[in-house]
Amino acid sequence: MSRQYLTFPIDTPPPEGQPQEIFPGIYWLRMPLPFSLNHINLWILEDEDGWTLIDTGIGSVACMDIWQQVMQEFTQKKPFHRVIVTHFHPDHVGLAGWLCQVWQVPLYMSRTDYIMGRILAADQSCEAPVTATEFYAAAGLSPAQLDHFKAKYGGYSKLVKPLPEQYQRLQDGHIIEMAGHNWQIIVGTGHAPEHITFFCADLNLYISGDQLLPSISSNVSVWPTEPNGNPLQDWLDSCEKLHHLLPRDVLVLPAHERPFQGAHPRLLELQDDHQQGLSKLLEACQKPKRVVDLFGSLFKRKVDNAVLTFAVGETIAHLNLLLTKGKLQRTTDAHGVHWYQQTQVPPP
Ligand SMILES: [Zn+2]
Repeated sequence: MSRQYLTFPIDTPPPEGQPQEIFPGIYWLRMPLPFSLNHINLWILEDEDGWTLIDTGIGSVACMDIWQQVMQEFTQKKPFHRVIVTHFHPDHVGLAGWLCQVWQVPLYMSRTDYIMGRILAADQSCEAPVTATEFYAAAGLSPAQLDHFKAKYGGYSKLVKPLPEQYQRLQDGHIIEMAGHNWQIIVGTGHAPEHITFFCADLNLYISGDQLLPSISSNVSVWPTEPNGNPLQDWLDSCEKLHHLLPRDVLVLPAHERPFQGAHPRLLELQDDHQQGLSKLLEACQKPKRVVDLFGSLFKRKVDNAVLTFAVGETIAHLNLLLTKGKLQRTTDAHGVHWYQQTQVPPP
């Protein structure tokens, strides 16, 4: 879909693994990802004493090979002196532990995302917990789909190098100096528990991570660890917050796709898309439905095993918001499966 209201001032992304200076002291580095989303954007900022890296790429041999080249080039001028990670997802944090060790530098993250990353890494040796299997069974997954989930459980640490045992905390509203300018830390929620982003008023730049992307809508999911969470409300609240804090003409440097202008209409569109999803689900729930019965109302693409847990999570995120607002009710049948139906309004 072409979005008329977005402009992309930097037409062509740099080739993979070849950093390009897009503003004085600010480099755009693209890394490959082995998914249908095939790249991530990292940012390298030049400080007086060294380079700051924002996000790291996934823990793959391909990314490590690229890093060997890039670090050789950059460290000829000055050392890397810190690694910042926007949130705990593998494409962002994957190589943080390795890079911090190689460079002997601290890792900067939000507290919640650092802890989340450590917990998920620790799940590597465990079998899928019963509560997680029950969570997906309650959504209506078939025995074969549940087996697939169990077999893939604990995959985080395959994509993420062990995180350092220590980190430096980044917090909402704090100021950090990078590339000779002050950047305000803005925390977003919904996609990750405490997603760090950076706004620089001097340069009118916003490093958004996955909190604001030009055409991809970031996954907002409920996970088995917190089955009654309401991350969609968090996400919608964050859209409001960003709309309030960011100037209309800010240039957004996102973790995927290209830098863009048009943050305000993009934020409105994201909110609008979710509101439409909520309406469609409510409509579909005139009769009792399971989570798996509702994929067609929310997603255009076919839900296969590769995206199943994201589809369940995103659908439940919408359902939980409607439950919280009292618009839906949920019952559990004898097999432990959840059924969602519009709240019956008693006749006057
Ligand atoms: Zn993410």
